[in-house]
Amino acid sequence: MIKDNIDKIRKELPSGVTLVAVSKYHPVEAIKEAYEAGQRVFGENRPQEFEKKVKELSPWIAEGNREAIEWHFIGHLQTNKLKMVLPYANLVQSVDSLHLLQEIDKWGRVNDRIINVLLEIHLGAEHTKQGFKEEEVLDILFNAEKYRNVRFCGLMGMATHTDDRDLISADFSRIDSFMAYLVDLFPELDSFNQLSIGMSDDWNLAVQHGSTMVRVGTSIFGERQY
Ligand SMILES: *Cc1c(COP(=O)(O)O)cnc(C)c1O
Repeated sequence: MIKDNIDKIRKELPSGVTLVAVSKYHPVEAIKEAYEAGQRVFGENRPQEFEKKVKELSPWIAEGNREAIEWHFIGHLQTNKLKMVLPYANLVQSVDSLHLLQEIDKWGRVNDRIINVLLEIHLGAEHTKQGFKEEEVLDILFNAEKYRNVRFCGLMGMATHTDDRDLISADFSRIDSFMAYLVDLFPELDSFNQLSIGMSDDWNLAVQHGSTMVRVGTSIFGERQY
C-alpha cells in the first residue's frame, strides 16, 4: 500500500527533510493515491512523461480545489526539451552541464521566469554519471549574478551504485562537506540551502549526512515496470 509506505518513511524522516516521491514509470493513479496520503512533492525524470502527468493531474487538482502539487524534475534534461519541463517544474534538481544551465537561464529570460535549480554533482565512481565537478560548481557560483533567471537552491547527488555502505557514506560526506563550504563561501546566495541526496536504499544514510531532500521511488510505489 502506497499510503503505508509513505507513513512509514514519514515516521522515520526527521522534520525539515523533504520527501520527494519519485513517480516515474508509475501511473497517475499511483500519484493520486500518494496525494491522498498527504504527499505533495513529486519527482519525474523523463520530460514527456513529466509533461503528460502534469497535464493529466492539473484538472483533477483544480476540480477538487486541491492544494497544488510541487513538481520536481530529476532526470537528464536535453535543451530541446526545456519547454516540456520548465513551465511546470517548481525545481529542476538535475542541472548537470554549463550548456544546460545557460539554456535554462535564456529560457527564463524569454519567458520572464526565474527557474529554481539544484546543481548535480558527479559523485559516484561510475564514469558514465553526469554532473559537475566541484571546481565547475565553484566557477558557476562565483559568476552566479550572470544567471539572472536562475535561482541556485543547492546541490543534488547520487551515490555510487553499490551495496558497500562505507562507500556510499564517503560519497555523501564529500557532498555534505562541499555544501557546507559553499554555504560559507557564498552567504549572498540566500536560497542556496538544499542538499538532495538519498534514494530508497540509502536515504537513511543520506539523512545522517545532512540531506534536506530525499528522492524515494521504489520504497513508496514498488518496483518500476520498464
Ligand atoms: C529513479 C530515481 C530516484 C528514485 O530511485 P529509487 O531507488 O526507486 O528510490 C531518485 N533519484 C533519481 C535521480 C532517480 O532517477
